[in-house]
Amino acid sequence: MDTVCTMTLYGAGGEADVDAAFARVREVDARLSMWQEASEVSAVSRAAGSAPVQVSADTMAVLTLGLELSRISRGAFDITVGPLVKLWAIGSPRARVPSREEISRALAATGYGDLALSPANKTAYLARKGMQIDLGALAKGYAADEAARVLAGRGIKRALVNLGGNIVTLGSGPGRGRWKIGVQAPGKSRGSHVGILSVGATSVVTSGEYERYFESGGRRYHHIMDTATGYPAESGLAAVTIVGLPSVLADGAATLACILGAEAGRKMLESAAPGMNAVFVTGDHRVFITPGLRRGFTISDPSYTLAGW
Ligand code: ADP
Ligand code: MG
Repeated sequence: MDTVCTMTLYGAGGEADVDAAFARVREVDARLSMWQEASEVSAVSRAAGSAPVQVSADTMAVLTLGLELSRISRGAFDITVGPLVKLWAIGSPRARVPSREEISRALAATGYGDLALSPANKTAYLARKGMQIDLGALAKGYAADEAARVLAGRGIKRALVNLGGNIVTLGSGPGRGRWKIGVQAPGKSRGSHVGILSVGATSVVTSGEYERYFESGGRRYHHIMDTATGYPAESGLAAVTIVGLPSVLADGAATLACILGAEAGRKMLESAAPGMNAVFVTGDHRVFITPGLRRGFTISDPSYTLAGW
């Protein structure tokens, strides 16, 4: 998944449990990654405009949620954003600012309305040639859910699964039963926190424009795309942390809120992920938290101020 993944087990359990959970993560990645030629997602994209492709239950589940979030957001979040994401190639050494013409072409090959899922036949079909699925906003969350499920199925009671900042906590944490999770300060060195979350068994997912980016001509370009302009989204939010299960929905909601910004992101959360909690961090150091986190989040960096939800 092109990131650092760790699993920490407390109490019982050992190497074999971690191996089993990691094997599941690799299996999920091998199905969902648009960067792997042999993945199911790549097969669906290769067959765009010609034929529906059979997919596993994993891929169908993530495609179904992704399509729902695409519809809810009317395409601000769009799992057919693959051509645009590949064009910018942010996070790879080939990253560059594309020409207007290239961007227009990539945008023309984007549109969730042309993705047809048939749960009955277990197929996915992209209606136009050149279209490409990108589940990058959801895959780590899904893999984290699955890793935690494997661990729980093997009798593990307490564990922390961390797939590149996509966290699932199992059971009670090591500090008075709570898990303490730092919310990274956007743009600061790793481990500098805006504040600390104190949570039970749940999932904590952060999306931020500081995560993957490149610089060109004195400007910074990050990896979350505005499907209206074809450029990185500029919503005023530097990072969004979502707290709640399943992690795949928290992952999607985090990316989506980053795209929408504080105002629309708040409304989206209420409709798309009701009951989930959130920490929104703006570029100008304001922090919005849902009422459910009033006792579960403390600011640790005084340069940030708490604003009302
Ligand atoms: P990360 O943990 O890597 O920061 P996110 O969950 O924030 O991942 O999702 C970012 C990824 O989502 C991008 O790398 C890309 O694959 C995909 N993506 C980018 N823009 C959009 C968009 N507008 N809609 C849906 N997916 C997107
Ligand atoms: Mg995401």
